[in-house]
Amino acid sequence: MSADHQPEFASEERIVLIDSKQRRYLVTLEVGGEFHSHAGVISHDQIIGSLEGSQYRTASNARFLGLRPTLNDHVLKMPRGAQVIYPKDLGPILVLADIAPNQQVFESGVGSGALSTALLRTGARVTGYEIREDFAQNAKSNVEEFLGSEALERYNVKMRDAYEPHDDEGFDRAVLDLPEPWQVVPHLESSLRRGGILVAYNPSVIQVQNLRRRLSDGPWAMIETVEVLNRTWHVEGNSVRPDHRMVAHTGFLTHARLIES
Ligand code: SAH
Repeated sequence: MSADHQPEFASEERIVLIDSKQRRYLVTLEVGGEFHSHAGVISHDQIIGSLEGSQYRTASNARFLGLRPTLNDHVLKMPRGAQVIYPKDLGPILVLADIAPNQQVFESGVGSGALSTALLRTGARVTGYEIREDFAQNAKSNVEEFLGSEALERYNVKMRDAYEPHDDEGFDRAVLDLPEPWQVVPHLESSLRRGGILVAYNPSVIQVQNLRRRLSDGPWAMIETVEVLNRTWHVEGNSVRPDHRMVAHTGFLTHARLIES
């Protein structure tokens, strides 16, 4: 696509401004608005009407790059009550759970809606059970912020305790991020369709052990637990090596398929 076919940044649009140190700032553009930073001010009017990928300068000649936010930016910057699942695990969860358009996906709890956003973005339908009303509201607003109101039509958040029997059934997939996933497994055995896939995200290995025990006692096959390590690299001149620091641990991903009992 040539540059003249791309839409220009418009007022009310959310963009990400990136400084020379790769720090990202989410900004909602408004006519007459100003972005203030340590390096000076950029007027929104300078940005509105320009193309994505443009660079803007402050009076002190500091440069900021303007881009449309990705799912990654959205998740890292979203207002959160509950701890979110990070992009490094979101990608693998979508593939391990084999999420696809129009699938019925059970999710619990919805937390801040980071995982919900990733699921809904594929075109899947999500039924989310959550026990905290404030988290449920925050998740819906984070989903709408990034995906727009259309996605809310495919996002049904219910105030329910997922450890109790399910009111819903006919799920193709189930994705769990709550403290005791093994308490949800018996209910999924009737609400998930046969051949359906369960993926659970758990920070602690004790949770994995309990979940794995419950899964191997039930009608589940292809059970596996994986850990995703993401190591960034420093690439500058002749210094080409892994970065000294990394996020060494987030959570374990356990996945399994429901079979005949
Ligand atoms: N995956 C989410 C974060 C989930 S945090 C994200 O990416 O944003 C865990 C959530 O599970 C919290 O919101 C908590 O309120 C909810 N929760 C804990 N126990 C629950 C239960 N028994 N039933 C439903 N939700 C529960």
